[in-house]
Amino acid sequence: MDCLFCKIIAGEIPGDIVYEDDKVLAFNDINPVAPYHILVVPKKHYESILDVNAEDMDIIAHIHKVINIIANEKAQNGFRIINNCGADGGQEVKHIHFHVLAGKKLPMYEKDAK
Ligand code: 5GP
Ligand code: ZN
Repeated sequence: MDCLFCKIIAGEIPGDIVYEDDKVLAFNDINPVAPYHILVVPKKHYESILDVNAEDMDIIAHIHKVINIIANEKAQNGFRIINNCGADGGQEVKHIHFHVLAGKKLPMYEKDAK
């Protein structure tokens, strides 16, 4: 499959990996928008949350367990989890991923843009 994050998971493209287990990989974003900008992805390919059926939903809890570990290490002062979905959500890479942003006071965005 021609998927950038599957290639990073397979080791075909280098990733700056910060956490790995049998189900999940976390790596630094190539174009960070905060001092810490980590992408957490399942090793199994799902395009977005719409692609994760009810039986597979445990992976989403597992991803948040991993975010808990990462944030405890690097983001005690707060952080933001972002999961962009589909065209209107601004999703560019079509392999579900959770951005973890931390390390500065993060600006607000859509919340204030009516
Ligand atoms: P999206 O816009 O799909 O939510 O986020 C995709 C993210 O992937 C962007 O923040 C972008 O900087 C990051 N990205 C794109 N290509 C690469 C890459 O080759 N390596 C890494 N580590 N991140 C990438
Ligand atoms: Zn993929």
